[in-house]
Amino acid sequence: MKIIDGKEISNQIKLEIKKEVDQIILKGQRPPHLAAVIVGEDGASLTYVGSKVRSCRQVGFESTLVKLQSSISEEKLIEKINLLNSDKEIDGFIVQLPLPKHINEENILMAIDPNKDVDGFHPTNFGKMALNMETFIPATPFGIMELLKRYNIETSGKHTVVIGRSHIVGRPISILMNSKGKAGDSTVTVVHSRTVNLESYTKNADIIVSALGIPEFVKSDMVKSGVVIIDVGITRVKDDNSIKGYVIKGDVDFESMKSKASFITPVPGGVGPMTIAMLLKNTLLSRKISI
Ligand code: NAD
Repeated sequence: MKIIDGKEISNQIKLEIKKEVDQIILKGQRPPHLAAVIVGEDGASLTYVGSKVRSCRQVGFESTLVKLQSSISEEKLIEKINLLNSDKEIDGFIVQLPLPKHINEENILMAIDPNKDVDGFHPTNFGKMALNMETFIPATPFGIMELLKRYNIETSGKHTVVIGRSHIVGRPISILMNSKGKAGDSTVTVVHSRTVNLESYTKNADIIVSALGIPEFVKSDMVKSGVVIIDVGITRVKDDNSIKGYVIKGDVDFESMKSKASFITPVPGGVGPMTIAMLLKNTLLSRKISI
């Protein structure tokens, strides 16, 4: 079994990005600039946003963190988004999810200028992705595609089972892997919470992308020998033996899978680090388009 080292690949990608940023600066132009909007004090969201900002520094990007109170109205949040939309110094921005319950996420998403939507969640960008046009691809599925490419994992003609149909992972990765091209050309089945007899699908999968968020849901007796496992799940599980009081678990029972899988992404250190690297790649793309 081979471990897919997302940390190493993400570091490689960051180095590649850094080189391009150095070239931009050498030509006397400003570096890419990513902004992140965070509403409220959710611990996990603050951690994610913090590491996104740190990664910006690593590759020579400018970054701006817009911290807003959880009581902010939807109207005021949209005003902030409009300011970012019209700010010529900012190439892309993200609004960290989840948002407080009184704010309609769809309205916020629709307010973001698609040209700055480096998360790739706006319907314009999602539609372009589905039509195989160049656009900002949602960072997590984009990262999975990159891992498959860089590990030369054959996907053409293979049967891929995607567990989960969310707009940010399951749905887009099913479209990408089914599309023409490298890491694509796969026959994709999407299973979800209403699927009957899920195991009958996973047992016939050459590749499994699991994005459901239930720790150790996928066991080795649910897959065939030689399967490629991409574990997207990140769940904090209470653990009094850990300093933080919790450990991070994936969707896949990693230990039991060792004897069955040909390739597997660990959690942490698999898909997770790729997400930030690909967000940076989207921001660089936005900057290059505007030069
Ligand atoms: P979500 O909650 O939006 O969607 C979960 C999906 O799983 C749903 O489509 C649902 O139908 C399906 N599901 C739930 N229970 C099921 C069951 N018993 N059997 C089959 N399907 C079931 O989640 P999401 O936003 O797609 O995230 C999924 C997981 O991936 C979470 O653990 C999340 O933290 C993680 N995640 C990781 C990254 C990363 O960077 N690695 C990025 C995004 C999400």
